[in-house]
Amino acid sequence: MNEQRQFWNEEVETRSEDMVQAIQLQKIQKQLKRVYESTPYYRDRMERAGAAPEDIKSWDDFRNLPIFLSTDEYKDQQERSHQEDGHPFGKILGLPLDQVLAVSSTSGTTGTPTICAYTAKDIETTNEVLARAYWRIGIRPGDTVLHGFGLSMWVAGIPFVRALEAMGVRAYPVGAESGSERFFTFARLARPTTLLCTPSFAEYLIEKAPEAAGMEVAELGVKKIMCAGEPGVGLAAVRAKIETAWGARLYDFAGGPWGISSVSCEHQDYQGMHLMSEDYCIAYDIVDPDTKQPIAITDGAIGTVVTTAFDWQAAPPIKFANNDLIQISTEPCPCGLPGKRKKILGRIDDLLIVKGVNVYPAAVRDLINGFVPGVTGQIRIVLTTAPPRVSAPLHIKIERGYELSENGAEELGRKIEKSIQDRLSFSPRLEFVEPGSLSRSVLKGKLIEKDY
Ligand SMILES: [Zn+2]
Repeated sequence: MNEQRQFWNEEVETRSEDMVQAIQLQKIQKQLKRVYESTPYYRDRMERAGAAPEDIKSWDDFRNLPIFLSTDEYKDQQERSHQEDGHPFGKILGLPLDQVLAVSSTSGTTGTPTICAYTAKDIETTNEVLARAYWRIGIRPGDTVLHGFGLSMWVAGIPFVRALEAMGVRAYPVGAESGSERFFTFARLARPTTLLCTPSFAEYLIEKAPEAAGMEVAELGVKKIMCAGEPGVGLAAVRAKIETAWGARLYDFAGGPWGISSVSCEHQDYQGMHLMSEDYCIAYDIVDPDTKQPIAITDGAIGTVVTTAFDWQAAPPIKFANNDLIQISTEPCPCGLPGKRKKILGRIDDLLIVKGVNVYPAAVRDLINGFVPGVTGQIRIVLTTAPPRVSAPLHIKIERGYELSENGAEELGRKIEKSIQDRLSFSPRLEFVEPGSLSRSVLKGKLIEKDY
């Protein structure tokens, strides 16, 4: 095996956009036919839309089909299959139960978990698309990888370990549940080159290392950290903190089940995650969060993601709109790698409406992050009324960069204001505050300061 090669699956990962679309359309037609025949739920959805599988002859025909499945409907039909069929995989399972060989769950911490089922082929699919991501960040057969995601049921748990093993990589499945002392014990024994974990776990280990292991995390020798599950890698300040303390390069990953796989690249500024598995699923289709109508897939377009897994066998999501907002980049990435990219902006619940314009706090943060080191990257959007409809102009606090004078801030402020007007279509009121004055909590929902 040539370990210098750039891609795990060169032929597939470097296909032209035209070829990708042609393959997708063929597979979509096949999958629609399959679920129409095997799954009353999808047959019903297609009949309501007045469409039969053979009517879908183009990408536009497919995009113009309505949404078949929402997050609530997904949970609802899982509940119904639990009661009526004796399993929690949903009325969309579409095959005999004995073909389901593996199970994982979403990371949702509230309410009923969303369960994901895998046939033998689906396990292979997951191994393949994860191998593409592992390869891109430089993991090679023979390497040692420390696994620090939650192992219990989570998509990023056992399936990620299984894919490492299938690739010939030595995985230490320690898991985030093990606690910091045990984690450091295995980290020292394993001497890993790579760590897989959430950004907040990587930060937690930085703080815990002196007390729990009598050392700094940099002494573990980890050179790469692949994160998933929460924002962090896309935030310049968070990334800098983790990379500096660990002496490692940080990557952002999204995907796992259903053949979804996307990972960030080597470019020094965060460029979103490159999509790598367009031969298995569509994970970049977007609709307007309110009207659910398709949004043109152009560079910078933002919408609710609509997932269609056209190669997945067990309970495949078809036209499944969850509550995640993504931004698509279609222009070539400065890193030189091919393909579209996406950024996850947060949940629909985060949406603000300013004078009729949809404003996504994470998109504001990402844009302002582009002005580091003039700014630190820390911001707060101050709301005087309850969202989503908030009063204009939107008040945004921005931390000045450590090296920036007050005069410099004025000029930089004009540039940021213009950039926000040009790219996000609203006029903000910017307030520069001292560097280090905004609290450093990086978890979801902390971009907003309530003043009402
Ligand atoms: Zn790139």
